[in-house]
Amino acid sequence: MGTKYCISVDLEGLACVVGAYGQGLAEGTKNYQFAVQQGIREANAAAKALFDNGADEVVIWDCHGSGINLDYTLFDKRCKFIIGAGSRLRFPGIDDSFDGVLFIGYHAYDTPKATLAHVYSSSTFVSHQINGNEVGELQMDAAIAGKRGVKTLFVSSDDICVAQAKESFPWVKTVITKQSLAWNNCISKHPEAVCDEIYQAVCDAVKNIDNAKVYTIDEPFELTVKYKRIEYAQGCTLRNPDNTPFEFIDAYTRKGILNDIEQYF
Ligand SMILES: [Zn+2]
Repeated sequence: MGTKYCISVDLEGLACVVGAYGQGLAEGTKNYQFAVQQGIREANAAAKALFDNGADEVVIWDCHGSGINLDYTLFDKRCKFIIGAGSRLRFPGIDDSFDGVLFIGYHAYDTPKATLAHVYSSSTFVSHQINGNEVGELQMDAAIAGKRGVKTLFVSSDDICVAQAKESFPWVKTVITKQSLAWNNCISKHPEAVCDEIYQAVCDAVKNIDNAKVYTIDEPFELTVKYKRIEYAQGCTLRNPDNTPFEFIDAYTRKGILNDIEQYF
């Protein structure tokens, strides 16, 4: 078959991950080390399902923070890894040689009660809207893969992120890792039970790949970015296709047109 997949691994949406109260999931906080271990377990369960169903190549993207979190020696030996930062691409390494992308550990965009919800930076942004619809990292990363014709196959996260995923990608196979109660609070399934569910759901996703679709955002599109602080909105350098700066909607919010989703990053 010659099939190749990318598993994009964030940490906030994993089972039994809530971060530190008031601090998110920064390196050095108590829940971070567990999150790293659980990210390896959940991604490995997905990788095993892919290999067991005929995958030739599985590439793991370690995408939390600066892109160096996981212990790569603990993965199936056949995996490859996209790690680190600095290539100036939001989704480094993705191209049309991939058949599908799977999202593990992603989180909701800002929503009441959603655990560790944010978009790119919880201290910088309130929201991102594309053509008036709120989007998060999940939708934007899926759209970047989609520009290269790569299908979105699978999402595992908390109940709120999974609901947002189903709205954006109705065909996608999903696993709910936990029920969100608050930004640092959840009722989680057992970490190992979630891995079993991911294995089964990813097997299903591969078997049903013909029904899966490529997620795209039609370009050009209108982007509205609401910042948490007035000076961040003032520092926004986004420009319209005619090179005029994005307009101010209010002191915190800038709006304009982009020709390409990747111009945002
Ligand atoms: Zn993250």
